[in-house]
Amino acid sequence: MILVLKHGVREEEKDHVRSILREEGCIIREMTTGDDTIIGAVGQVSRDLRFFEQLPGVAKVVPLSRPYKLVSREMHPEDTVVQIGDVELGGPRIVVVAGPCAVESREQAMSIARKVKDAGAVLFRGGAFKPRTSPYSFQGLGEEGLKILAQVREETGLRVASEMTSPGQADVIIKYVDLVQIGARNMQNFELLRSAGRMGKPVLLKRGLSATMEEWLMSAEYVLSEGNDQVILCERGIRTFERYTRNTLDLSAIPIIKKLTHLPVVIDPSHATGIREKVSPMARAAIAAGADGLIIEVHHEPDKAFSDGPQSLYPEQFEQLMRDLYVIAPVVGKQLDFGYLEKATTDQPLPSVKTGGPKRAVFAGEMRAFAHKAASQFFGSEVKIEPVPSFRSVYQEVKNGNADFGVIPLENSLTGSVHENYDLLLDYEVRIIGELTLRIVHALIGHPGTQLEDVKRVISHPQAFEQCRDFLEQQQGWELVAARDTATAVRRIKEEGNPGEVAIAAKEAAALYGLDVLKEGIETNARNYTRFAVIAAGRITNGPRGKSSLVYSTSNTPGSLYDTLKIFAENGVNLVKLESRPIHGKPWEYMFYVDLEGDIEAPELQAVMEELSEKTEYLRILGTY
Ligand code: PEP
Ligand code: MN
Repeated sequence: MILVLKHGVREEEKDHVRSILREEGCIIREMTTGDDTIIGAVGQVSRDLRFFEQLPGVAKVVPLSRPYKLVSREMHPEDTVVQIGDVELGGPRIVVVAGPCAVESREQAMSIARKVKDAGAVLFRGGAFKPRTSPYSFQGLGEEGLKILAQVREETGLRVASEMTSPGQADVIIKYVDLVQIGARNMQNFELLRSAGRMGKPVLLKRGLSATMEEWLMSAEYVLSEGNDQVILCERGIRTFERYTRNTLDLSAIPIIKKLTHLPVVIDPSHATGIREKVSPMARAAIAAGADGLIIEVHHEPDKAFSDGPQSLYPEQFEQLMRDLYVIAPVVGKQLDFGYLEKATTDQPLPSVKTGGPKRAVFAGEMRAFAHKAASQFFGSEVKIEPVPSFRSVYQEVKNGNADFGVIPLENSLTGSVHENYDLLLDYEVRIIGELTLRIVHALIGHPGTQLEDVKRVISHPQAFEQCRDFLEQQQGWELVAARDTATAVRRIKEEGNPGEVAIAAKEAAALYGLDVLKEGIETNARNYTRFAVIAAGRITNGPRGKSSLVYSTSNTPGSLYDTLKIFAENGVNLVKLESRPIHGKPWEYMFYVDLEGDIEAPELQAVMEELSEKTEYLRILGTY
């Protein structure tokens, strides 16, 4: 049952409620949602529900209707984020687990691990104890395989996942593995589930071959009832009459699981389809449907794989899939977790390394502004994210060593470049070390109960007005009032408390101030994206280097820009952006900002850089990322 406590409940009253529930032998979970405090209690109680309702401090008691309790959303309205070492699964970042079906040798594991890591996987999978249909098939390397996984973690920094097939393996698995997998065939092995629940490691629980959602959630309940709520549910295809694919992927499990439980859900398209060429389409669909992650089999020589070769992607196919997911994720409000920024090291020590404190990232604006959302998607919860008053102060904080990172918007797909930031990049010698695309979905936010007819005034950032022009033009007599950023607009309407005032901002800002979303998706064009950059004082030494940004000026003579562009063309370098900005104090002279594919600091492109420096008057690398 769920006990909703009265507003302003006293600590003694809470203690009393808790001690009665404990006396009844209940498992207790306490949570606060908005202004409410809720105590969830699971177990057979001897007293009538009315008894609990009459306890001092209790507002109401709601019986839990579902057979699973601890895993139900009712018990825990917020999403659970599972922490696998430094990887967070279940938040705004999509986690991809990749690797072979089974660990076959050190060389095989290490070679695949390097490739999947380069493509952006943050966890490595590999079976050491394989549950095989035939007793004569390869059964896995056992502890030897686990040792190899530990070496993979050591050498690549990837966290590792492996399957446990019997409770007797717990002692050895615990020594080597970061994420314990319970296989489909063992979903209802209750002793195994209890044992996994007691290991104190996150658990990935696969759905059984013919298990209903409810049976699957009841199995998760076993793990949680042992005190471990770090459980990830994995849909891997179920048995149906269809024989074309190995199993039938039940994509509808994603929204259903998201509704019924707070636990994250990942999709395994490899075992679901059993066919290599079907894996990527299903993986893309899973992310579009809201999955928190994927677990994918990859093998560098699938023809020689000891198990599941036909469904294993070649590393190049996996890389292409990751590129596709990178593009799809922002559409559904998420990002791929490349997992490098919170672990970033730079050539100049980061400020947090000097102080020994947590890493700190700053953005301009207020909490829940779009820049805050971008920053939260970049960094895990290990990084402290804080607002500063202006774009310039973001640069100053980074330059002066007060912040490890800054997050700045560079351009919007509808309204173009944020010129101030292009100019500031020139003023401050900082480096771009990462980029992220955020989909901008605008919501109309107002006081609870406000009708569109009641609205007199709307507050927001001018860019937001611009992006919502069609919607605003349909409204009669609304006064538009500019604010510094969208989150400030929401705070203002909250503070002013005037029911005729509304704001345009991200829906997350409404939740922060206890306001309502009156209408969502009011931007004229749904393809509304802002590209943000992460800046740091130094060069990052352990991040991706697939793209570079440069800025240069040329002499004011005919063909001088052409001469520089020719260098890129002749060397097969693909430009993805070219923009000019006036040079301050030199009318009609321009700086050119160039983004290109590839690492401009790599030895292969050294000649390009040398030629460029001959043909330019000023040249600086803004970053490779
Ligand atoms: C596996 O992940 O290699 C595996 C055996 O999966 P499942 O339990 O889903 O069959
Ligand atoms: Mn497999």
